[in-house]
Amino acid sequence: MDNEWLSQQWQGLGAGFAMATVLISLLAWLLFVWQQRRWQQEVADELEEKIQQRTLELQITLNELADKNRQLEQQNTLDALTGVRNRAFFDQKLVAELKRCRRERSFLSLLMIDIDHFKAINDQHGHLAGDAVIQQVAQSIQSHLKRSSDHLCRYGGEEFALILPNTNSEGAMLLAEQVRHDLAHSQVRYQQLVLLVNASIGCYTAIPEPLQTSSDFIQAADAALYQAKQTGRNKVVCSELSQHEVAAQESESHEQNQ
Ligand code: GH3
Ligand code: MG
Ligand code: MG
Repeated sequence: MDNEWLSQQWQGLGAGFAMATVLISLLAWLLFVWQQRRWQQEVADELEEKIQQRTLELQITLNELADKNRQLEQQNTLDALTGVRNRAFFDQKLVAELKRCRRERSFLSLLMIDIDHFKAINDQHGHLAGDAVIQQVAQSIQSHLKRSSDHLCRYGGEEFALILPNTNSEGAMLLAEQVRHDLAHSQVRYQQLVLLVNASIGCYTAIPEPLQTSSDFIQAADAALYQAKQTGRNKVVCSELSQHEVAAQESESHEQNQ
């Protein structure tokens, strides 16, 4: 073994060592990068899962909120005493149905139903008995409605309004007569009291004309109701009047009451 051979061996060994060091460093770096990527991927997956979970929870909350809103809207349109639709609903629905029936050239009927001599029930038996009568009359009228598009509303006090879309005067008259007949032949029970209740009904039917408003419909049905009251009560009267005649009759009845 001479010195030259020995130095060659050392140099070889040094170069091999350097090469191994580079390779190990490269391997370590690759391992580090791979670990880093894996860790990033895990974080991204976790984040994605969390986002999906939150989105689902948010969707559920939004659906619950929408349900609550619908319930609230529904409650806002209901009459507290009877559970049928209230006046605010009636005002909106009549305008909407008027527009729809005008567009579709179909009949719209409006019934105004008023309990006869209701004040006497209040006076003789008290307001709670009167309330019970209003509630049972509402139930009785409601039981006659078969179409989901028909709407019973408490117009005020002891008056109800029935909006009947796609219903001609014959159909409206038939329904009104059934309601009247049913009320006249049933008894309202309240505590130990048995009360007999009648109602008068005014009815108006038309395919809405371009300038006809919801007020015109109410006035026409009211005028028919007024006639029913004037000619004996416990009856149905359908308005055949033109708008002009309705207006004339309204002002006439106004003058009579003054
Ligand atoms: P008509 O046969 O002409 O319809 O006479 P009526 O006595 O039924 O009519 P009137 O309009 O004179 O009386 C209605 C009464 O209804 C007057 C009001 O004090 C009463 N009323 C209004 N709202 C309620 C209510 O929610 N509960 C009760 N118990 N009475 C009410
Ligand atoms: Mg009244
Ligand atoms: Mg009345």
